[in-house]
Amino acid sequence: MTTTDTDEQAAFLTKLRAFQGTEAGTEVGADPVNQAMIRHWVEAMGDQNPVYVDPDAAAQSVHGQVIAPAVMLQAWVMRGIRGRPAQGGSPRDELMGMLDDAGFSSVVATNSEQEYDRMLHLGDHLRTRTVIDSVSEEKHTGLGVGHFVTTRVEYETTEGEPVGRMLFRILKFKPGTGRSAAPSDDAARRPLRPRPALTQDNAFFFDGAKQHRLLIQRCAQCGRLRHPPGPRCPRCGSYEWNAQEASGRGTVYSFVVNHYPQVPAFEYPLAVGLIELEEGTRLVANVVGIDPSDVAVGLAVEVEWLDEDPDLTLPAFKPRA
Ligand SMILES: [Zn+2]
Repeated sequence: MTTTDTDEQAAFLTKLRAFQGTEAGTEVGADPVNQAMIRHWVEAMGDQNPVYVDPDAAAQSVHGQVIAPAVMLQAWVMRGIRGRPAQGGSPRDELMGMLDDAGFSSVVATNSEQEYDRMLHLGDHLRTRTVIDSVSEEKHTGLGVGHFVTTRVEYETTEGEPVGRMLFRILKFKPGTGRSAAPSDDAARRPLRPRPALTQDNAFFFDGAKQHRLLIQRCAQCGRLRHPPGPRCPRCGSYEWNAQEASGRGTVYSFVVNHYPQVPAFEYPLAVGLIELEEGTRLVANVVGIDPSDVAVGLAVEVEWLDEDPDLTLPAFKPRA
């Protein structure tokens, strides 16, 4: 890279970062929170909790009335594809236009993190305020050279009561500059592996994975280990917890070998194990380094780290030497 390239990149980044903190527009939901949309959602998700659809059951719950699933937050203000205004105008459109013009014309969503202030009830009418939170420096990713753009969306009622917020991150990248540009490499041509749903409870696990540390949540009160992570100890009820690093050794407690349906991010047949760690907790992970037809219950395994892409490292397990 020449000095001129670096200077141009720095100047471009300065222009992009001028958008950080900029208000990128407001939106009002087309409809208030309503039973019909909730019903379609929970049926599609297979969620049978009556608190979402049965007024009598909901009245007897801690909520006292029907609530919307928290993760529907985005649905209440999201516009349909035909409801989009013509491009141009908002600072966000301007930023995207600058990236497009510089060749970063492809886009992929990489992260979505939501926080909720309270449950939503029938009749709540929401609006959003969107702020451009950050623009990354130029990054080399598996998909290509690009910039991550993070927006923060604040959700509130039309009366102005805050109800939640969402961080949404996209990668704007130059097509043909990633690993996928090498046509001989089938593995590199695969799309990114689906992101785990990150919460305040499980973020430590994935942060640990990035450092190749297999962590188990431990109750700070009674010492009980638990996985998957959760807010409260099932034994003593304490909300206090810390984490313990696992040895990485375990055995296959159960497994499946998946052939169909085939999701493009994975290779098939795909061995997925329920691994019982030496420490006693179990976790779901890929079983690697072995012909899937040779995986067996009781197989002694040890952790192997899969650095899938710059944002995602996952534990897998291979037969122990
Ligand atoms: Zn406990």
